[in-house]
Amino acid sequence: MLSGIARRESGSARAMKTPHLDLLLDILAQPTAPFREEHVIATVTRVLEQAGVPFFADPLGNLVVGAASHAEYLRLVRGERSEGPSTEPLRVFIAHMDHPGFHGVEWLSPRRLKVQWHGGAPVKHLTGASVWLADSHGWTGSGTLSRVKLTASKRSIDTAEVHISTPLDLPANRLYGGFQFRAPVWRSGKRLYTKAADDLVGVFAIVATALALFGKRRAAQPIPFLGLLTRAEEVGFIGAIGHFELGWLAQSQGRRPVVCVSLEASRTLPGAIVGKGPVVRLGDRRTVFNPGTLKVLADVAEQILPGSHQRRIMDGGTCEATAATAYGFPSIGISVPLGNYHNQGFEGGPDCKRPGGPAPEFVHLDDIAGELDLCRALMKTGLPWDDPWKKQRQLLQKNLRHYRKLL
Ligand SMILES: [Zn+2]
Repeated sequence: MLSGIARRESGSARAMKTPHLDLLLDILAQPTAPFREEHVIATVTRVLEQAGVPFFADPLGNLVVGAASHAEYLRLVRGERSEGPSTEPLRVFIAHMDHPGFHGVEWLSPRRLKVQWHGGAPVKHLTGASVWLADSHGWTGSGTLSRVKLTASKRSIDTAEVHISTPLDLPANRLYGGFQFRAPVWRSGKRLYTKAADDLVGVFAIVATALALFGKRRAAQPIPFLGLLTRAEEVGFIGAIGHFELGWLAQSQGRRPVVCVSLEASRTLPGAIVGKGPVVRLGDRRTVFNPGTLKVLADVAEQILPGSHQRRIMDGGTCEATAATAYGFPSIGISVPLGNYHNQGFEGGPDCKRPGGPAPEFVHLDDIAGELDLCRALMKTGLPWDDPWKKQRQLLQKNLRHYRKLL
């Protein structure tokens, strides 16, 4: 059994300024895989219930934070207030609760489980790698990988066998798992090492933002905030697509603007370095993001995190902002730079035995604190969403006035 006690601390780190560090560690310590987000859901719902933050599950099993029901969601989307529709755009923060991992398929013998992988993975040094196993009740044990078959593209794992030391009296299809390291999460200085930062850090950021917004006292007017915690992103945005297909968000029918904000942990790249601040994500591998909406985010970042944020196209992967864009919603993204993306030992470090082989993901506490600051700042009223380029235009006009005489 893996212990839930995952909080090792080393170095002389001072306490993280980010509120809710325990909540972050708690979420990172939950087992998760595509379509098997149940423990993350249980942790998040417990916290939201305790704090009195409204939430409900949509028909796909995604968690919607900030509204207690479908009806309340629609009221928010339409901007209904006593004094008429709100002009403040509805901010829809999106993060996914899964991480690449495997599902049990069948028992080949009492100690050999055939598994199917879902999502990205390292493709080197896999034989003998440690994996954890869980079911709906929690951790069930651990094992090692063998007979790994890669996908046709050779970019991820297709199937494998998991050898376990103690036979489990459980149906194969109840089990799921992922790469295992010394603990589900541990801290070293200001770094957090974990089996899965992508995208549990984003989930944490949404929950922490909701806790801050809803607080103890109920606001007089509805807060223009929705959090969408999705399922099965790693196999192609399944939860997000299912949610957009419901058509609920489209019911603003132009009465109230909607802005989607994807929160991701994204593969570190030149210009998006772990520890140098959250990244204003200009785009992903598929597309650039909405320039007007992005201008608001970029200006907010410049204002509240001068010199301690980064900006670039994070084209190491795609994100749910692309799915939102495909459904016609203006979308932007904030990334926390992520080491050893999808447990691939790109950057190496502790518990990475060989370069490129299985490795714990890592993130930096300062980057997460900065992401929380950005989320809060995006919720301020009166940001120039309807004319983000006004100031820039005024500067351009000044240029024209200055040089006009030379024309
Ligand atoms: Zn991912």
